[in-house]
Amino acid sequence: MSEILLKHADCILTMDGERRELSGADILIRDGVIAAIGPGLVSDGPAVSAKGCVVTPGLVNTHHHLYQSLTRAVPGGQDALLFGWLQTLYPIWARFGPEEMYVSALTGLAELALSGCTLTSDHLYLYPNGARLDDTIAAAAAIGMRFHPTRGAMSIGESDGGLPPDALVEREAAILKDSIRVIDAFHDPSEGSMCRVGLAPCSPFSVSRDLMRDAALLARDKGVMLHTHLAENDEDIAYSQAKFGCRPGQYAEDLGWTGPDVWHAHCVKLDTSEINLFARTRTGVAHCPCSNCRLGSGIAPVRAMRDAGVPVGLGVDGSASNDAGNLVAEARQTMLLQRVANGADAMSAREALEIATRGGADVLGRPDCGRLEPGKRADIAVWDVTGIDSAGSWDPAALLLAGPTRVKHLFVEGRQVVADGCVTTIDMARVLSDQSRLVRKLIAG
Ligand SMILES: [Zn+2]
Repeated sequence: MSEILLKHADCILTMDGERRELSGADILIRDGVIAAIGPGLVSDGPAVSAKGCVVTPGLVNTHHHLYQSLTRAVPGGQDALLFGWLQTLYPIWARFGPEEMYVSALTGLAELALSGCTLTSDHLYLYPNGARLDDTIAAAAAIGMRFHPTRGAMSIGESDGGLPPDALVEREAAILKDSIRVIDAFHDPSEGSMCRVGLAPCSPFSVSRDLMRDAALLARDKGVMLHTHLAENDEDIAYSQAKFGCRPGQYAEDLGWTGPDVWHAHCVKLDTSEINLFARTRTGVAHCPCSNCRLGSGIAPVRAMRDAGVPVGLGVDGSASNDAGNLVAEARQTMLLQRVANGADAMSAREALEIATRGGADVLGRPDCGRLEPGKRADIAVWDVTGIDSAGSWDPAALLLAGPTRVKHLFVEGRQVVADGCVTTIDMARVLSDQSRLVRKLIAG
């Protein structure tokens, strides 16, 4: 039995069923699980002080492309809309291999951890030069992050009327075969699981109807979740109407892509009937506000989704379209954008933080994460509010209204992954030096 006692937090925002906020309280962690929360707890194990700190559940990231951490701020992709941006980046990504996948994933995961994230999904949909989903799973295991990798795919290349170059697409039989391999090798459905695999054909404009349907059938057969990009911008809607004769919501429904085991990234352009469809079927949404701003895609109707009962979580999206990977900054951006669209009372800081924590956990089918209460996993973010970012603040809502944007401590499954603002589980200097060697190689061509 191993215990850690987190002591004397200024405030614990539990995000439990009653959304309790506790002052001057402790959290007792035992064997990766929260054993108790309250004042005056005792333990024989080590203690970590949370004095001067706000404590929240670890944040949950529901959409990312970790490999893109090697293609930030690429000239030619900086000011383009979605389709033009993709066409600039595809040839660069085609030169990636296993090492690029591993190192960029480690970099992206460390960045997420420092911004309070304890559970992340990843969407890897291209496998050039021997790269495999295994490369990113190894990175998550190395840093100790709870990980939901998805086996993405592209199968319709340029010569078949799709967007990606032919060199980046795979045969659909090979995609399904490798999907079965990675589920059988890595998917752990148990409570407290550190790795759950999902299936994620990239988008309606890069795979066939058949693959969408086959992936849904395979996912139901294996008991894994489904993920893709949907209704991201006006070009995306126009493509759906021209190619399939319907809107994205209809396309998803026809192919088995609705339900509590499905979550779609972006959904910026969902209309009222699509929002109602998602609410009725409990289909989840990964809201990626910074990426949507960066690519000029629009403001997702998150207020309307939440009011209708659609499960919504947050995603930083890939670092080629954000270009940061800071999840707590994403929560702030969520709040700000809903206010731009709907007025200053449209979303509180507390609601945005709820979406970033238990909201994301629910989207990923993880009721064991995203809230701090006895019996839940010990995924905990500790934010120092004595520094310049939040000096002078009156309320823990300052976390999103002011700062900080990096954690002091972070626990995943009770293991301390960040201590005093530094990642403890990997050699960060080595990772950054590998990352910079690889990006120089890519720039050199
Ligand atoms: Zn994406």
